[in-house]
Amino acid sequence: MKSSVFGWFKNIPIAKKLYFTVGIMALLIVVELVVLFFSIHTLSSVRAYVGGEGLYSKAQKDGLYQLLKYARTHDELDYAKFQGFMKVTQGDHKARMALSKPEPNFDEARQGFIEGRNDKEDADGMVQLFLRFHANEYIHRAIVAWTKADETIMSFLALGERLHKEINATPYSQERVNAILEEIDPLNERLTPQEDEFSFTLGEGSRWLESVVLRLLFIVAFTVEFTGLILAITVSRGIQKGLREILLSAQAVGNGDFSRKARAYSTDEIGTLANSFNSMAAKLELLEKENREVNNSLEKKVRQRTSEMESKNKELEQFAYVASHDLLEPLRTISGFVDLLQKEYKEKLRGNGDIYLNYLSHASDRMKVLIKDLLDYSRIGREKAAMPVDCDEVLDEVLADLGKSIRESGAMVTYQNLPALYAYPTELKLLFQNLIGNAIKFRHKERSPEISVSATSEGNGWKFEVCDNGIGIEKQNLDRIFIIFQRLHNRTQYEGSGIGLAHCKKIVELHDGKIWAESEPGQGSRFYFTMSKEF
Ligand code: ADP
Repeated sequence: MKSSVFGWFKNIPIAKKLYFTVGIMALLIVVELVVLFFSIHTLSSVRAYVGGEGLYSKAQKDGLYQLLKYARTHDELDYAKFQGFMKVTQGDHKARMALSKPEPNFDEARQGFIEGRNDKEDADGMVQLFLRFHANEYIHRAIVAWTKADETIMSFLALGERLHKEINATPYSQERVNAILEEIDPLNERLTPQEDEFSFTLGEGSRWLESVVLRLLFIVAFTVEFTGLILAITVSRGIQKGLREILLSAQAVGNGDFSRKARAYSTDEIGTLANSFNSMAAKLELLEKENREVNNSLEKKVRQRTSEMESKNKELEQFAYVASHDLLEPLRTISGFVDLLQKEYKEKLRGNGDIYLNYLSHASDRMKVLIKDLLDYSRIGREKAAMPVDCDEVLDEVLADLGKSIRESGAMVTYQNLPALYAYPTELKLLFQNLIGNAIKFRHKERSPEISVSATSEGNGWKFEVCDNGIGIEKQNLDRIFIIFQRLHNRTQYEGSGIGLAHCKKIVELHDGKIWAESEPGQGSRFYFTMSKEF
């Protein structure tokens, strides 16, 4: 039963929990108020009895005085006053009798108390106190004392009547009157301790009632506070515990641990939140897994492609080295004889012979350049040492070498604050030469080339940028251009061997760096490369 109430409370919505707590508190406070009201009412009734007892004994004393006076004066007015005082005690007597019946008569009792000069406002409370507590030890004793006092009062009244009769008897006998008067003292002496007993037991009862009321109030107040505290602690701990679970799981998920599930302690909003969080985490885990798989396969593909490209480059390098060596020899012979023919036999040639000879000379020159490029490419980094190089100086040399094409194209080349770094000087010069050369070569028909070279320090190295406003490169070709012999244009459009950028890549890698390009076709290109400060 207990656990089912707890279970029910745990699982109801938080708003209902709060309403329930406040409702229970309100109910208990109402109970506390009812107890308080009842206690004050009862104590007030006890006070009314104590006051009533005062009036009762005073009326009895006043009655006695009037009776003695009447014995002396024989004045009927004094006797009437005696009877008036005795009505007070008779009123209380009437009330007691009405309440002692098996079926108490409330109206008569109320009337009796009012005749006993008690306040009208107190009469109901006095009736209720009598009925509720007459079995209580103290109240019972007080009622017994009251009953005895009433009996004595009856005797006193009868004595008064006998005295009245004797005074009015003919013939009048002073002796008989004196005999009656002598009965007064013993009666009075009997009455006083009875009234004291009534007053005393009522006082005791009042004190007992006070302590009962205090205890009752304390118990109710304690129950209110305790219940409120327990309910508040239960609700707040339930919320705290549930939220903590969700927080810990959220932190775990944040750190990539999806195995930590938030425990749902209840089916209220917090429990529902924990369950929703768990299913969200499960979905995230699934997504993460799928992502990881996609990434892995992508990485694998990239690695595969890179290694394919590298091995392709290696093969081509090998081929270039061998071919250039083997080609150089016959080429020298051809160009030697072409020179000889041009110098010695030019005038003997007929028709278009000299034009064909020019073609031959031009073609062999191009081939020489190609073979030189190939040899340079295959020799990179061999037999040389790295040393401190000032890039500004390197750029000065490069621009001087490219002076002719810069002038012809009207190019604007700017560079500033380039670093001094540790590098292979010849290779570094070749790198800038290729990039700036390309920027001039692949210029836009409608504008003069604008080229800027800059560098920024980045981590343990430098990041260089060579920027132009040329024809640009399609996005899908941005990787391809770094592979040897990959040209995007045929020779009738732009002169070139397709070695330049592959050469650049090799130089950058020699310096432990990376090279890549970004471009907007028709707008221009940006070539980036990094260089380690130490390699
Ligand atoms: P090439 O001898 O043709 O210049 P590269 O290896 O230097 O060979 O360049 C490869 C290809 O990349 C070029 O054929 C060209 O199509 C493209 N390219 C290189 N640099 C640029 C540039 N600055 N702007 C536009 N295209 C470029």
